[in-house]
Amino acid sequence: MGATLAALLHELDPSLRLLMLERLEAPALESSAAMNNAGTGHAANCELNYTPIQADGTVATTKAVSINASFERSLEFWSSLQQKGRLNTGGFLRQAAHISAVWTAENIAFLRQRYGQLNQLPAFSAMRWSEDPVELAEWMPLVMEGRDPQQPVAATRIERGTDVDFGALTQAYLLPLQQSGALELRYGTQVQNLKRIRRSDMTEGDWRVVFKGPSGKKEVRAPFVFLGAGGGALPLLQRSGIPEADDFAGFPVSGLWLVCSDASLAERQTAKVYGKAAVGAPPMSVPHLDTRWIDGQRSLLFGPFAGFSSKFLKQGSLLDLPASVRATNLLPMLQVGATNFELVQYLINQLRQSPAERHEALQQFMPTARANDWTLSVAGQRVQIIKRSKQGGRLQLGTEVVASGDGSLAALLGASPGASTAVTIMLEVLQRCFKQRLDSEAWQQRLQSLLPSINEDPQQDPQVLNRMRERSDALLGLAA
Ligand SMILES: Cc1cc2nc3c(=O)[nH]c(=O)nc-3n(C[C@H](O)[C@H](O)[C@H](O)COP(=O)(O)OP(=O)(O)OC[C@H]3O[C@@H](n4cnc5c(N)ncnc54)[C@H](O)[C@@H]3O)c2cc1C
Repeated sequence: MGATLAALLHELDPSLRLLMLERLEAPALESSAAMNNAGTGHAANCELNYTPIQADGTVATTKAVSINASFERSLEFWSSLQQKGRLNTGGFLRQAAHISAVWTAENIAFLRQRYGQLNQLPAFSAMRWSEDPVELAEWMPLVMEGRDPQQPVAATRIERGTDVDFGALTQAYLLPLQQSGALELRYGTQVQNLKRIRRSDMTEGDWRVVFKGPSGKKEVRAPFVFLGAGGGALPLLQRSGIPEADDFAGFPVSGLWLVCSDASLAERQTAKVYGKAAVGAPPMSVPHLDTRWIDGQRSLLFGPFAGFSSKFLKQGSLLDLPASVRATNLLPMLQVGATNFELVQYLINQLRQSPAERHEALQQFMPTARANDWTLSVAGQRVQIIKRSKQGGRLQLGTEVVASGDGSLAALLGASPGASTAVTIMLEVLQRCFKQRLDSEAWQQRLQSLLPSINEDPQQDPQVLNRMRERSDALLGLAA
């Protein structure tokens, strides 16, 4: 997130001096590391949780259309940087068909309803449907092989899906920024505190950011601070003392993958196959069998299996959760615990799962899977947002930009759809924190050349969507 914001700011004003402080020894070792997330270019093509069923039997499509447009914005940004010679998209972006697959009568009825509605929308008009076992075996051989021929299976497919190595993307953003001299990046440097400096006339001035690095404790002054610390953003937001922080608490969900070590199996799957989440499962725990390209190597991932750890970062502390409890967020946390019984039950069950039960879950997707080919790998931590509202504490499963009223500080909380929509999220940060400069002619001109459709809405106008897609496909080599 921080790298995306840095890249955007640099494009808009190359004279800005940027400082990035990272507690670990390299960039993107937490959630953005390739093996810590699923690497799906979330465009709502296959993720069934983005189109929940409604009381009237139809599915809600608004969120899916909005996520799809956000991903198009990311593609538009990457295309422009590639065109300017500042980003090699080949190092992190691959085309992989996005498939949703289900095999119970209830889930097939749901998928049919979803397909019927989405297929009518310009964003998803290329979606295909199949219940034909021969075609399904072509689409997803590993899912169909060894399956009971009597078991009905249905799937939808969108050819223009992607797999993204967000760790490689982060590095690709940062390197040219460092080389240009615009960005100073300090590793092994943990931000510990931040406070607003009061000017002599008692008005609020710059931020004083206190950090501990290889040469001890230091501080730096900055007129604007972005807390792009992933799971570590909430504690820092709380330390900033801005009143907006009082509305938030965090609920960490950990994850595990099964990773296939048999290269010949990985070669046979060229798609991301998403299923339907179990009852009570948090939406981001939808099981999927995923083709991945990491460091140029093909691999196969299944999961995630959810779990609970009180850490906010994979390399964090077990005290993260208790230390985040405040008088202002304790009640909302308790309310969420009391009203999300199914989620708590689901997490307890996932934690209790034995290796044999995990393998059984994998075999529902891939009947011929052999336990010896798969090893367990720990995914990143996701700190879900608990937000205080008049109706009580609410568990919020998306992301949220929290900004101080004067726009001098912003933080990103939450996890999903996350990295795929980073460009749209960072444009919101610019809107809220750099409004005046964003409206200036100079920034508008630069923004327009970077994101040619920025002043148009692909969600409302199919021609805009088509133009965006044609441009990105030509520059990135994607095919419908
Ligand atoms: C299991 C799982 C699956 C996912 N799947 C997908 C997917 O398929 N597609 C998708 O788009 N998104 C996915 N996501 C979400 C995605 O990974 C995140 O949205 C994204 O990586 C968040 O980026 P970030 O920069 O905010 O956080 P991070 O990548 O976690 O980076 C935060 C950085 O801040 C550093 N930091 C923290 N605290 C401090 C401090 N005090 N001082 C200095 N540095 C600090 C950390 O070390 C870290 O490097 C998934 C996430 C998980 C966990």
